[in-house]
Amino acid sequence: MDNKGKLYLISAPSGAGKTTLIQIVLEHFKGLSYSISHTTRPPRKDEQEGLDYYFVSKKEFKEKIKQGDLLEWAEVHENYYGTSKDFVTKNLDQGKSLLLDIDVQGARQIMKSALNMVTIFIMPPSIEVLSHRLKKRGTDSQEIIETRLKNATTEIAQKNLYQYVVINDDLEQAKEELFKIFKDEMN
Ligand code: ADP
Ligand code: 5GP
Repeated sequence: MDNKGKLYLISAPSGAGKTTLIQIVLEHFKGLSYSISHTTRPPRKDEQEGLDYYFVSKKEFKEKIKQGDLLEWAEVHENYYGTSKDFVTKNLDQGKSLLLDIDVQGARQIMKSALNMVTIFIMPPSIEVLSHRLKKRGTDSQEIIETRLKNATTEIAQKNLYQYVVINDDLEQAKEELFKIFKDEMN
């Protein structure tokens, strides 16, 4: 094993519970930092600049692509999302591990690299439950929910690209499964 940090890539269809589970993992594994992405999506009412995301305009995002500032980027649910190359490189070089909340297209770009990584896909128990959770979360319009549900099938079809698949039906059980993966991979 080298002394470089690892990237933990976590993907899931929107509403599967990825953000909820990532927060639980970050609370527990203090040595793990979160890679804050850039997005052109407007902030939700409980989201904070520089904590959840760096919220940028489409023009600023395109400039970042042009400057080669992004390790990966993708258009997801009609907005752009991307990971800062500088942040990831600096942390890995210092031996620090990072958790990335990333869509399937972005994860596939990183999977092609030689970076040291662990890949995890969070599955909802069913599309019906996913739909119910998105509605209950109450952060998105019906139109946005429909786009996200439409994309869910394509995303789920690619789950076998990941090393681990965790079903988030019972939250406690999904948490335990994730904790085991992180503990095993950190040794
Ligand atoms: P994502 O980040 O994958 O879009 P969230 O973490 O925002 O999903 O979860 C979507 C909604 O589902 C939230 O309201 C969250 O509280 C709820 N949720 C997450 N996990 C579960 C679970 N295991 N059972 C029931 N509700 C859940
Ligand atoms: P949300 O709008 O719900 O926060 O995120 C929508 C999707 O964008 C999720 O699938 C999430 O994993 C993905 N995402 C968040 N940040 C990034 C990123 O930096 N790069 C890529 N490719 N996807 C991201």
